[in-house]
Amino acid sequence: MIEISNLRSGQMLEPSTHVERMPVINPATAEIIATVPVGTAEDVDLAVVAAREAFPIWSGLPASERAACLHRLADLVDANVDELARLETDDNGKPLALARDLEIPRAASNLRFFAGAILHTKSEAYDLGGMGLSYSLHRPRGVAACISPWNLPLYLFTWKVAPALATGNTVVAKPSEVTPLSAFRFSQLATDAGFPPGVFNVVHGRGDVVGQRLVEHPDVPTITFTGGTSTGARIAATAGPMFKRTSLELGGKNAVVICEDADLEAAMPTIVRSCFQNQGEICTCGSRILVHRDRMKAFVSRFLDSVAGLKVGDPLDAETDMGPLVSADHRDKVEAAIARGKAEGGTLACGGGRPTHLPDRVKDGFFLEPTVFMGLDQDSRTNQEEIFGPVVTIQGYDSHGEAVDRANATPYGLACSIWTRDLERAHRMAARIESGMTWVNAWMLRDLRTPFGGMKQSGVGREGGEEALRFFTETRSITIAHPG
Ligand code: NAD
Repeated sequence: MIEISNLRSGQMLEPSTHVERMPVINPATAEIIATVPVGTAEDVDLAVVAAREAFPIWSGLPASERAACLHRLADLVDANVDELARLETDDNGKPLALARDLEIPRAASNLRFFAGAILHTKSEAYDLGGMGLSYSLHRPRGVAACISPWNLPLYLFTWKVAPALATGNTVVAKPSEVTPLSAFRFSQLATDAGFPPGVFNVVHGRGDVVGQRLVEHPDVPTITFTGGTSTGARIAATAGPMFKRTSLELGGKNAVVICEDADLEAAMPTIVRSCFQNQGEICTCGSRILVHRDRMKAFVSRFLDSVAGLKVGDPLDAETDMGPLVSADHRDKVEAAIARGKAEGGTLACGGGRPTHLPDRVKDGFFLEPTVFMGLDQDSRTNQEEIFGPVVTIQGYDSHGEAVDRANATPYGLACSIWTRDLERAHRMAARIESGMTWVNAWMLRDLRTPFGGMKQSGVGREGGEEALRFFTETRSITIAHPG
């Protein structure tokens, strides 16, 4: 049984018997595997004091020294990849191979990327002719709150923490209380990486207490948040009147547009992955497949064949494609959405229930079959609301204009994929689809330099590359007149 503790002022705090704790449950086995402290507003306040005190020291270091700390931490993540991956799988339910081969290595890449990026930044200067010179400074803003969700726990945690630290801010981070294990192990590794005390602090606990206090704390001017749209609205309502800088990465209802000339044979493995990887619990997963009616029959039969081949089972098994959903509560929510889809008149083309014949070790886990609905209207709740699970719908369209209109007909605008061999059409559609990120003949083809984020109710602001470096710094413009 792991007893999770907070990191403050460079020390892992000893678990205290006075502190209330919550269980952490392995969703594959339904067993309690750890306990996490129920953090308080006072825990946040102490962490913010530590981070504020460390700010002048950390922001005053040469960028190369900050980068060296981040590289050391990245090396420690790499050296502990197997342990971190196992923690991630036990905590979240994702297939072990996904955690070990993609997500934990990506956490190390996030650290290395921003450690490198901070050494290659530049400032602008404007020659005012005979009058003078203007130039810009980009300075760290102070204490940054980094609040992350449960679906890609360490991957998204480091996506926020790395640029915040690289740019010279100090951090109070709050991982999801549903999946706190990898952030806990990461914070232990951070104590070995040589950060000055107080630079990086982690407070575990519930969102409405620890997260809320971080958002409303007067000494935290910067908030980066990834999570649900309703939580984002609440954060914006608190942070807006305080004039805090916020980056909100929120939910999605992403379209997968299949054009009549799509190379279905080549594309199908990626299309299926785009819907069901990580049990559909990725914000960029496709959940509404829009198919040109000329290819509907061919698409549906190939797609359903491929989905039938997905193996749902023990996430430790190398053959497993889909593990359990993250929690019993979340499975309840997804099951309620499936029931609603049926009540709205949807036809189940496959799935809809819990898998039978699970291996003994995981027979009590929170599994669901990959589920495909057909025959639902665009304005049904199933086609409008984020489900965040292994549930997709298929709709037909007759013209590309109709495909674009349908893709845009939700309150969200996070991600989209277009499958076509016609590049001109791809450019045309991509420019018209209201989506922060569009992939053509690909999904989750990511480069850390590219902007990441959504429009409409999918978020405010962008992360990644230059955007992140700008977000975590305050730009100041200085103008000097030439003498005389
Ligand atoms: P959530 O909003 O419930 O929680 C996210 C984090 O916010 C958690 O750490 C939680 O404790 C904290 N939180 C909760 N209430 C808070 C409050 N009042 N103030 C401050 N913090 C608070 O989301 P979740 O269920 O953990 O994650 C799933 C959601 O995240 C989905 O909607 C998904 O689409 C979204 N998501 C978006 C992206 C993206 O990049 N756009 C990426 C991953 C997940």
